[in-house]
Amino acid sequence: MVDATDLYQEIIMDHTKSPRNYQRLEDADHEAQGDNPLCGDELTVYLKLDGDTVEEITFEADGCAISTASASVMTEAVEGREVDDVEDLIDTFQALVTGEEEANAIDPAELGDLAALRNVQNFPTRVKCATLSWHTLKAALEGEDETVTTE
Ligand code: ZN
Repeated sequence: MVDATDLYQEIIMDHTKSPRNYQRLEDADHEAQGDNPLCGDELTVYLKLDGDTVEEITFEADGCAISTASASVMTEAVEGREVDDVEDLIDTFQALVTGEEEANAIDPAELGDLAALRNVQNFPTRVKCATLSWHTLKAALEGEDETVTTE
């Protein structure tokens, strides 16, 4: 039997090797850049909204495995959701990787591949790698033009 840690490792490796939705979105109506100087991760998130729904989300990144995997998992989790829902998910993810009790109580089955990043809470220096894409998504939704930084 495969234990959860190995399974999570596998999910992260899979998203790192073949990131989902990895491309520039030419007709994006929202985009933002994120920068994590601590690790050297940089990424851009592109969004196309249809009313209040995220119709399409893509990203481009130059960063470590965790930042790329997190962005890839994020695009899959967010596509097709309503903006309010996405904002809740951003908070949930932040709570999850920082090890908040409330988030740890969530059933992994409900989180899908997001659960794979839960282990990041054991590596405080990598938390910013994991949250970078989510901060950038938030900036894109809010229509901020400036680059967000984790510092
Ligand atoms: Zn990183």
